[in-house]
Amino acid sequence: MTALATAASAAGITELAVYEVPLRTRFRGIDVRDGVLVRGPAGWGEFSPFWDYDAAESRRWWAAAVEAAVDGWPAPLRDSVPVNVTVPAVDAGRAHAIVAASGCRTAKVKVAEPGQTAADDLARVEAVRDALGRAGAIRVDANAAWDVDTAVERIRSLDAAVGLEYVEQPCATLDELAALRRRIDVRIAVDEGVRRSADPLRVDLREAGDVVVLKVQPLGGVRAALRVAEAHGLPCVVSSALESSVGIAAGVALAAALPELPFACGLATVALFTGDVTSSPLLPVDGALPVTRPEPDRLAVLAAADGTAARWRARIDEVLAA
Ligand SMILES: [Mg+2]
Repeated sequence: MTALATAASAAGITELAVYEVPLRTRFRGIDVRDGVLVRGPAGWGEFSPFWDYDAAESRRWWAAAVEAAVDGWPAPLRDSVPVNVTVPAVDAGRAHAIVAASGCRTAKVKVAEPGQTAADDLARVEAVRDALGRAGAIRVDANAAWDVDTAVERIRSLDAAVGLEYVEQPCATLDELAALRRRIDVRIAVDEGVRRSADPLRVDLREAGDVVVLKVQPLGGVRAALRVAEAHGLPCVVSSALESSVGIAAGVALAAALPELPFACGLATVALFTGDVTSSPLLPVDGALPVTRPEPDRLAVLAAADGTAARWRARIDEVLAA
């Protein structure tokens, strides 16, 4: 038995399966999503830290997979979860089509993509507004790309054009977010500032944000994310880390277990995949996902190439040794 098999089975994992699936559109700088599904007595979990995360940072992602496979999740408080459509940094025509096809009443739009302009962002959100209608909600995510002055200018302009529900992580640091927050009226949601911090429970968000973005894998599991929600006492929105339906089910479990769920969640991202590990993918119907746990029955179809599988095995070794 290899070191991997010993360590993983000591955690209660009985089976590993590596998947690889092309995305419809380049997203977060990647064209193909890959990850590992792990099986245990409670079912299947997903371990899929992006490749730019090191072993130490990936440990929380592993804990989330083990929780799903070995412990299972807390009981749900609701049986469906409202979700937003996620719009990558595509042109206005595609943005319109993605939103119109989604059936969702809330859209999260990527902005501040490297190489694009303020006019590109404006055209994209205007197309989204047109597709959603006046009653829909639009939020934008800048993934920490702006400095404070740029953020003030861009957010005011986008908000004046279409009305923003909130802006997600417009600047990188909490100090910048706090400075920005004093200058704009739009709510700020903190994503990277929580999930990439050394201690998501202790990071001080009082001046910096109005909403906390919770992601199961980066926070170390559903229970760990519930503790983060409790620690901050702010409204929370659950988002995916671009997982297959197996990983998305953990996000749905978190959203279903939160005492309050004031915003649609960013869990409709399987729509960005060209395929899925299950024949019952977690895709929205009428703007919501059911609280359910799909069985991965298409692993053979999406099996990763040998090189990718070997890379993931080495990575699990590294994470368990970190
Ligand atoms: Mg984000």
